[in-house]
This record gives sequence, structure tokens and C-alpha cells, in this order.
Amino acid sequence: MPGFEVFGEEEKKEIQDVLDTGVLFRYEFAEQRKGIYKVRTFEEKFASYCGSQYAQAVTSGTVALKVALAVLGVGPGDEVITQGFTFVATWEAIFDVGATPVFTEVDETLNMDPTDLEKKITGQTKAIIPVHMLGAQARIKEIKAIADKHGIPVIEDTAQATGGTIDGKYLGTFGKCGTFSFDAVKTMTTGEGGMVITDDERTWRNMSEYHDHGHDHVPNPGGRGGEGRSFIGFNYRMMELQGAIGIAQLAKLNAMIEEQKKSKAALKQAASAIPGVSFRELVDEKGDTATFFAFFMPDSEKARKVNDILKENGAAAIYFADNSWHYYPKWEHLINSSTLATNGWPFNDASGKRRIVYDADVLPASAEIMSRLLVYQVPVKLSKDRLKQMTDALEKAATQV
Ligand SMILES: *Cc1c(COP(=O)(O)O)cnc(C)c1O
Repeated sequence: MPGFEVFGEEEKKEIQDVLDTGVLFRYEFAEQRKGIYKVRTFEEKFASYCGSQYAQAVTSGTVALKVALAVLGVGPGDEVITQGFTFVATWEAIFDVGATPVFTEVDETLNMDPTDLEKKITGQTKAIIPVHMLGAQARIKEIKAIADKHGIPVIEDTAQATGGTIDGKYLGTFGKCGTFSFDAVKTMTTGEGGMVITDDERTWRNMSEYHDHGHDHVPNPGGRGGEGRSFIGFNYRMMELQGAIGIAQLAKLNAMIEEQKKSKAALKQAASAIPGVSFRELVDEKGDTATFFAFFMPDSEKARKVNDILKENGAAAIYFADNSWHYYPKWEHLINSSTLATNGWPFNDASGKRRIVYDADVLPASAEIMSRLLVYQVPVKLSKDRLKQMTDALEKAATQV
């Protein structure tokens, strides 16, 4: 999946434009910058690629979630529902605005189970964050319909599925906001960086000001000086160098996805021969970004056995049930309420009294699914030799399991 694999002359040329002017800041410096606005251009191109009205660049995918939550008015006392299979960033952002993360089961899409979502909505639910994990779609239409029924906004965490679609419509454009990450290992990268897209002008303007210390961008877009502020903000501004890299990477995104699709098809073909194998459910196979290939065995014992064979043959798969960064029962710092705050926030209230406990055993359906899941990351540049090693290993597993 990583865009770092294709970093090359195009990125260097874009960066050189910035180095030639020496203007690293996205705003101001009108004379020195010679008309070069890389972050702004990246935002415009990204919005246009996704078919969205507005895009706001920020410093990371985690911050993209935080900015989206902040402008939707989420704060202390509110609950935000997300899924128990995601990267820790999703719920870190929820805690960071003072709200409480609530976790749903995932189904065989490996994303939010809409039935469980409906059960977890309460009077406190202020936002819903489905995640398009491992390059492919959540059941976003069902999720959106449930959210609409309750009048709750949806933020799509699209950090792992930039360029993914359902029926040709881009992921990130179904909810009120879509958030993206361009960190070092994402499908396209700016080293660090993120984006929020929305079709709502007010939401975008608030994001623009919030991420820039509250500077008033309406009468004086990006200007500095005597303008007022409508609300308190923070600094999550992207640098021009990152914007420059983003422009070059975005131009390569479709080609990267096409390469991954070819390799993924070859892996799927080889895995099909394994007795009892089944595949991750894709909401729309055409719109899969193919950054990962995920398959199931009938039970955890078989999954571990298959993976042992794959390992012996130099092609171990990821067993996410053991992964401590992406799966709820393995987040021991969350389960154990580990925090630097001396009063125990966010697990305790300001007086130090316990207010939330996370129980490792509350997502049994996810545990069952995760226990039989095996996953390969699909690189953009998969050498013939490596692909053969992987397909050979899968064929061995097919005969030995
Ligand atoms: C990577 C990732 C993020 C956070 O992105 P950063 O840019 O690393 O902060 C958020 N959500 C998911 C699902 C991710 O994979």
C-alpha cells in the first residue's frame, strides 16, 4: 500500500518549486512565493479527485479526525461510536476532544456492523465514525441511513482507503466529513499529513479557521493581522513541502491501485485452493483499493495452522487477532486505563472518580471473526519472485492443511 514505494522525480520536482522560493508556510509571503501555493493546490486537486466540494489539509490523519469532531461540536459528555477493529488513532481523536469512544462489532467486511451500531446509539451519541479498514469499504450506505434516522453526523475514517469507491462514488463523500491520512505507510504519503473533505461550506470554513488558531479566513483568507476570531482553535497547518509531495503522489494514486489489484488477484487465485477458505466481504469489489488481501479460515486453529505453513515457506500472513495496534482486546493501555493525566482523565472524571471502564470481552462477534482472519499487505511494487514465493506458499498450504 505505501506511496513511499513510488516516491521519485515527480515528487522531487514539486518539492523543488518550494525550495526555489523558500516559502515553507502555506499562507502569506505573497511576493516571495511567486504564485506557488502547494497546500492549497493539493486541497483543490484532492477535493476534485474525490468529487467533494471542499478539502482541508492538516498535519495528520489523527488530527483530521479531531478537526472533524471539533467542528461538528463534539465535546465532553458526548459519545462517539466507532469500530473495535481500527488503528488506535480513531479513538485517540475521540478522547482528545473530550468525548467517549464506544466500540461496535465488525462483520465480515472487517468494518462496522450496522446492526450493532443501531444497538449502541444512545441519547449521548454525537457522531459515528465508521472506518474503511484495510483498503476497502464499510457498509457506509446502511450506516448513513441509520445515522440519518437518528440525526447523527457520520465521519468516515478513510485513512486506509484513499481512492476507494462504492458504485463509483468516492469513500469519504458519503458522510458529513471524510478524513484521510498521508503518513509514511499509507497508500499515498506526504511523510506526515492528513485531509478532511466535506460538501458543507460552513463546516469547511470552520475547519479552515480552527486548524489555524481561529484566524478569520472569511474577510481575509489566510491573512494575518488585525482580523478577529470567532472561536478558539489550534495549529494543525500542513507545510508547503508536504503539499508539494501530495500533489505528485495523488497523480500516481490510480496507477498504484491498479498495480495492487493485479497482485491481489494473483494472491486470491492461489489462496482459493485452500480447503475451507473464504474471503473478506467486499461491498463493491471494483472500488476496492486492494492494499490488503484478507481471507478467512473456518476456525482459529486452521487459521494458525495455515499461517504456520505460510511462515515456513517465507510468506507469513498478518494475524490481526494478535495485533496490538488495530484490535480492541489488544489495546491494553485502553483496557487498563493507562494515561499520563494525574487525575486519570479520560478514564476518571476531573475529581479522579472512575467514569469509564473498557472490558476486553464485549465484542464476541468480532473476536470470532478476527480469530480466523489472515491478511497480506499488497505492495505496489511486488517483484515476480516475491509474488511467486507468496503464491507457492499458499499452494503448499492448500495441499498440507
Ligand atoms: C493511519 C491511520 C490513522 C491516523 O493517521 P496518521 O496520519 O498516522 O495520524 C487514522 N485511522 C486509521 C484507520 C489509520 O490507519
